[in-house]
Order: sequence, then C-alpha cells, then structure tokens
Amino acid sequence: MKFTVVGSGAMGLRYGVLLQDAGNEVDFVDPWEPHVEKMREQGGVYVSRDHEAKHLVPVNVFYPEEYQGEPDCYIFFTKQMQLADVLARCAHFFKPNQYAFTCMNGMGHVEKLLQYFKPEKLIAGTALVATVLNGPGDVDFIGARGAGTMNLANYTEKPDEFTHQLVAELDKAQFNPNLTTNFRGTLMAKVVFNSVVNTLCTMFEMTMGEYAAYEGADEMSRQLIDEAYDACERDGVKMINSRQEELDSVNYVSKVANPLHYPSMYQDMHNYRRTEVDYINGYLVKMGRKHGYEAKTHAFLTHEVHLAELQKQKE
Ligand code: NAD
Repeated sequence: MKFTVVGSGAMGLRYGVLLQDAGNEVDFVDPWEPHVEKMREQGGVYVSRDHEAKHLVPVNVFYPEEYQGEPDCYIFFTKQMQLADVLARCAHFFKPNQYAFTCMNGMGHVEKLLQYFKPEKLIAGTALVATVLNGPGDVDFIGARGAGTMNLANYTEKPDEFTHQLVAELDKAQFNPNLTTNFRGTLMAKVVFNSVVNTLCTMFEMTMGEYAAYEGADEMSRQLIDEAYDACERDGVKMINSRQEELDSVNYVSKVANPLHYPSMYQDMHNYRRTEVDYINGYLVKMGRKHGYEAKTHAFLTHEVHLAELQKQKE
C-alpha cells in the first residue's frame, strides 16, 4: 500500500517508519523547516527505542508545496492547531479517490478533514502509544516493538474493503489495531482519558505514574470523567467504556503501562509550544454548553493550562 504521512513529527514518523518497515511505500510531508532540512542533510531520521539503539532510517521527505505523490491513503499527524494551515498547503495534491486516516488526539480535526475528503474516505482513531521527537530529525519510539494499542473507526461506521486492508497493514506493522463501528465513542474515549492525565501531568510537570500515585488521584480523575461523560451523553455520544472502565484505564495506563511517561501535552509546554487543551478539555466544555451543561472543572482546567502557557512564555 502507498501511504503519505502529513505531519511527520513524533507520531507521523512512528506510523510511517513502521509501515515502511512492514513493506509499504511511504512518503513524508512536513512543514517544519529545521526538521525537513535535518532529515535531508543526514539522509533520513534517527530512530531510537527508549533512548537506545539509535540508528538512521532513510525517509523520503517533502515540503507541502513541492509534493506530487499519489498515495492510496494519507496519515495525518499534526497538532490540532496546525491542521487547518497544513491542509490548505497540501490541498493541491489531494485526489477524490484517496483516503484520510488519523489518530490525532483531541477533537476538531474531523470537521477540518471533511472539508477535503469525502465522509466515506475518512477513518480516524486513537493511538495508545508514546513517542517523543527529541529534536529535528531525531525520534524516540517509547516501548518495545508491538507495545501499545490503537482503535479506529470509519466516519460512516461502515468498514469497506480498504479499511480491512488498512487494518491488516497496521497489524503487520504491530500497532495492534482494533476496528470499531462507533466513531465518536471511540474518539471521545481518548479525549476523556487525555482530559485527565495529559492536562494534570502537564500542569504539575509530573509523569503519569507520579499522578496516579497521589492519594487523591482517583477522586480527581472521577470528577473529570463524570463531567466529561455528562457532556458526551448530552451530545448523544455512545461511549465505548463505562465511567468505571475509563477510570480503570487511566489507572492501568498511568500505573502499569507508561508510569515514567510525560504526556505529549507536557512536552509541548516544556518546548514552549501551545498545547492542545482547547481541543481536549475545551472541546468537552463546548460540547456541554451546546446542551446548557457546564463542565466546570474542565473549563477551569482549560484556563489554568492557558495561564501556565503564558507563564512559560516568560522563561
Ligand atoms: P509533533 O509535535 O511531534 O509533530 C507535529 C507537527 O509539529 C509536525 O509537523 C512536526 O514537524 C511539527 N513540530 C514538531 N516540533 C516543532 C517545533 N518545535 N516547532 C514547530 N513545529 C514543530 O506531534 P506528535 O507528538 O506527533 O502529535 C501529533 C498528534 O498525535 C497530536 O494530536 C498528538 O496529541 C497525537 N498523539 C501524540 C502521541 C505522542 O506520544 N507523541 C501519542 C498519541 C497521539
């Protein structure tokens, strides 16, 4: 299969490099100049696993304006606030028969992708795996090969032949894909997870394990999960987990699977970049308000993260 990754940062590289390893043809498109120039200069991207076994992987990398390839499927991995701009810069090479697949965090991307791709060509999901871009041309895949899982669903909730082929390729590349037929429920499960762990770990500059070890963590998580579910249920989302299962998942991932990990939102704050909080906690607030429900803790946390971003700019 032919893939083109659009947004070739941490996760774009992880998906692209592993799909390339599994025998697919993969191109990489990225707008960040220092990153593209570095990969061209060194003849690829340096890939390590858990800070070890660093090696150079050759990649074909392009700026949006110069790209002319014709893949079967695009894989979008920008940050939410970058997507509209990147899509506009890439629009010249999109074709009506091509698929768009993404596992970006947060919500806001679906509407933007639908401006360029037909509903039956859109597949989105969630990736439960951690990856760090150490700097231009240098990425660290956290966890062993085959670690982590992912969920995906068609926007139409009707998997076609291409979707099954995509799942087979993701499986070969050891992403452990789970295909569902509940689009919003699948995506919102990760939004709710991130609204607890990403946001709190970012604000208090702590690992997921440090958060989960705090004696009040369950009470805090439960309050955020309850408000998030109250907003989602009012908007008609059929959640894939019960509230208790969502809390169990926060605890399992934070205590057992990734206790030493700083979530990606923390990494953005640390690198003086804007966070995706408006597309995570902020999205839940907007969803609730459509139905006259106030997700107060999420609204407060969204403001707190913006305050922390402002403080960080002063450093
Ligand atoms: P990323 O920041 O590594 O890359 C996204 C884009 O930003 C790329 O185009 C990259 O080149 C560019 N970029 C990176 N650093 C930059 C800088 N300092 N200045 C300007 N541009 C820069 O993002 P990511 O971690 O790959 O995340 C992509 C999406 O996947 C997000 O929605 C994220 O929340 C989600 N996600 C991330 C992880 C993770 O562990 N990293 C896991 C699951 C989902």
